[in-house]
Amino acid sequence: MSRFWSPVVRTLTPYVPGEQPKQARIVKLNTNENPYGPSPRALEAIQAATGDALRLYPDPNSEALKGALATHLQVRPDQVFVGNGSDEVLAHVFQALLKQERPLWFPDITYSFYPVYCGLYGIASRTRPLAEDFSMRVEDYLPTPDECAGGIIFPNPNAPTGCPVPLAGVERIAAGNPDAVVVVDEAYVDFGGESAVGLVDRHPNLLVVQTFSKSRSLAGLRVGFAVGHPELIEALERVKNSFNSYPLDRLALAGAVASVLDVDHFQDCCRRVIATRQGLVAQMTALGFEVLPSTANFIFARHPGRDAATLAAELRQRAIIVRHFRLPRIDQHLRITVGTDEQCQTLVEALTEILGR
Ligand SMILES: *Cc1c(COP(=O)(O)O)cnc(C)c1O
Repeated sequence: MSRFWSPVVRTLTPYVPGEQPKQARIVKLNTNENPYGPSPRALEAIQAATGDALRLYPDPNSEALKGALATHLQVRPDQVFVGNGSDEVLAHVFQALLKQERPLWFPDITYSFYPVYCGLYGIASRTRPLAEDFSMRVEDYLPTPDECAGGIIFPNPNAPTGCPVPLAGVERIAAGNPDAVVVVDEAYVDFGGESAVGLVDRHPNLLVVQTFSKSRSLAGLRVGFAVGHPELIEALERVKNSFNSYPLDRLALAGAVASVLDVDHFQDCCRRVIATRQGLVAQMTALGFEVLPSTANFIFARHPGRDAATLAAELRQRAIIVRHFRLPRIDQHLRITVGTDEQCQTLVEALTEILGR
């Protein structure tokens, strides 16, 4: 604390990202990165963009990327907003759309950046508890005679549980809250979930946010986007243009466009992760873990006989890192990223040893 800090900075509890270890040769299953490399075409495009043109500012409107995404998602370019990672897109969403008189609703167990943005922007929030089995009850997100949301946000599939909400449920939430913006954070949707992008034409209050960090293996490039009604997009553009004219640099724009065009590489990586996840769930279950049903590139599991923090520490001693959250209701769970088959095998062998099987 310093006397120079502004009042809001004094109150902040910032988000703590998962560790990025310095050592090589670590089995890194803690931050849900893709184990496979980005599209080779994206890498070529980034290399081709590395030249004299870096003297010049990038396109402030990211038109090439919006056009490529619009074609890929079958929407219009004016329904697309892009930003420096979906965390930045989400930050603008909170400020531009979710800061309302009435409180914002989100699940009690969810992406822990949401309460951080509420703190930063002074947004009141109300958490809706997940069911005992960690599923999201759609009814909990519909207005009652006493309460009506100022906005709603949830990841689909949810994080860190990996549990999906069926598309019909997402649509019921959007239709049931016509006066509130409903944001679906689809960071993990490409690993077997159902995207709500196809619903945005019918629901002008629905905004879908996605990222290149997970399914497109480009976490290091920082690209995210939102899809929704042009009026929602315009609100985001207004905030963006009051904050940073050039959130996406020339390399990011070139790489992201090429990544969108390389459909085969994208689908192949997603298929491989899904196949590995299925095998991992089976092996973890055989080891006695309770594994939540996941449509993400991670699993969320607990062992009824072992303390989760201790397990995480024992894995770390074996150079395997997974994510453990010291939070109510989930402090006995581990969130484990689906790596390559080989990485998952290393994990399962380590757990077999730790559990003394
Ligand atoms: C990873 C993640 C993001 C952020 O992704 P970036 O595009 O890398 O900023 C957003 N929401 C959820 C739920 C995530 O897990």
